[in-house]
Amino acid sequence: MMSSPLAWVRRLTRALEATLLPPVCGGCGRRGEWLCPSCTAALRPLTDARCRCGRPGTRGRVCSVCAEWPDALGPIRAAFVFEGPLRSSIHRFKYRGEYARGRYLGSLLAEAAATALDGVALDLVLPIPLHPRRQRERGFNQAQILAEAVAARLGVPLGQDLLRIVDTRSQVGLDYAGRRANMQGAFRSGPGVRGASVLLIDDVVTTGATMEAAGLALLEAGARHVRGLALARGA
Ligand SMILES: [Zn+2]
Ligand SMILES: [Zn+2]
Repeated sequence: MMSSPLAWVRRLTRALEATLLPPVCGGCGRRGEWLCPSCTAALRPLTDARCRCGRPGTRGRVCSVCAEWPDALGPIRAAFVFEGPLRSSIHRFKYRGEYARGRYLGSLLAEAAATALDGVALDLVLPIPLHPRRQRERGFNQAQILAEAVAARLGVPLGQDLLRIVDTRSQVGLDYAGRRANMQGAFRSGPGVRGASVLLIDDVVTTGATMEAAGLALLEAGARHVRGLALARGA
């Protein structure tokens, strides 16, 4: 379904606002910055020990989920806890179409990526794609904007060869098993990733089922290794 003219006008208006108006803090609304100093101080980096799929509280390297993963998949990591000012910033970016805020969030993720991936050899940075229908409705892919910033910061090319071929239903309210079933076969990749060490980028990771499905599609297409990095994770 094509997006309506009204949706298009709304997107254009937001894009103009983002260009013409001064930035507003995504946490508290204060004018002048994308995130004010006190809201920046409230960001909580996710640095505790995690297993390969990113679940907390696992002493070893794998839990029951990622024990079944191929060796070439993981780790899946997130830079910050999905809460407070970051949560509202991501919300404004995604659902209110604040592209310029997306570029700011991309710079946050890019710095985290540079620290976390220091010394890791990567060939491609790839955003988790939206289904084309979803992307037409939203007007942009939030993960693409974040991935552009990460690729530029790391000096790694931005890949294209990953498609979302199934318009999956909303994941809200689904647990990992439900999300995994929902995501099965949702992605397809191609020859552009053959032999590559890939970093997948998304805005928010919840159970990791989306990253897992995309990662498996990349490995199936011949990628050598797939890691994942999201801006935020619920816990
Ligand atoms: Zn603030
Ligand atoms: Zn795990």
